Amino acid sequence: MKFLMIGAHQDDNEFRLGGITEKLVKNGHQVRFLSMCNGCGGHHILTPEETVKTRAAESANVAKLLGIEYDVWTDSDDCALVADLETRRRLIRYIRNYNPDVVITHRVNDYHADHRAAGQLVQDASYMLVVPHECPDAPAMREMPVILYNEDHFKQPLFTADIVIDVDEQIDTKLKIADLNVCQVYEWLPYTHGEVVPEDKKERFEWLAGMDPHKWISDEEVMKLKRGYAVRYAKTAARFRKELIERYGEEKGSKVRYAEAFEISEYGKQPTKELLDKIFSF
Ligand SMILES: [Zn+2]
Repeated sequence: MKFLMIGAHQDDNEFRLGGITEKLVKNGHQVRFLSMCNGCGGHHILTPEETVKTRAAESANVAKLLGIEYDVWTDSDDCALVADLETRRRLIRYIRNYNPDVVITHRVNDYHADHRAAGQLVQDASYMLVVPHECPDAPAMREMPVILYNEDHFKQPLFTADIVIDVDEQIDTKLKIADLNVCQVYEWLPYTHGEVVPEDKKERFEWLAGMDPHKWISDEEVMKLKRGYAVRYAKTAARFRKELIERYGEEKGSKVRYAEAFEISEYGKQPTKELLDKIFSF
């Protein structure tokens, strides 16, 4: 099957989907990431042009690590993505040409205007994918893909965890992905949060994780921790413990430490349980 992960920015896909991506690739599926923006806004010292180049190089490293295809719309600046007709048609053509079975993107109430626009553009494109007279230069799909949303923490309305996947075996990969995004996780994001990053490489990686990634701690302890990428992925498992137990049974579900969660969009093909089991056969 073919999976198209559509993020507004490079790190959106990389941080939210790294675990299932590794699993999907291992299971013989084809995965492509699209970043609808070029990343130019994500630095406080580098120029926008330098930031685009740096982020492209870092994302190429992630693509290599995961064994995936990776596209960036290099002419589309950060903080300027809008759900207009021209961009919708660009996306319709883009999705049709790849012809994915599954698309994963942002919900439309995420915090960043680019995230909301990306989610809106996917929603607006979804039905048009099968309408032949719309963008006739790109052959219409015969079937809409299944569309899923990444987890977020916004409450109006609240994210529904329709699918929660155990990514315990992928935690090292997930941390490595974050570590490869040097200009984001060690420079830009700490700058915006007023955080000081340790200079020593080993210490800075521990700081990045925020907890010992291979030592079990309870949900209560996880929820007390404030920052770090292992903490972030552990919080998803803690937040959706009930769903993990439903999916994997009490014994395994209560022991999963890291997870990724997805909501089914009403605008894509509505998957049966059989299809979902085929998509997430792990
Ligand atoms: Zn983003």
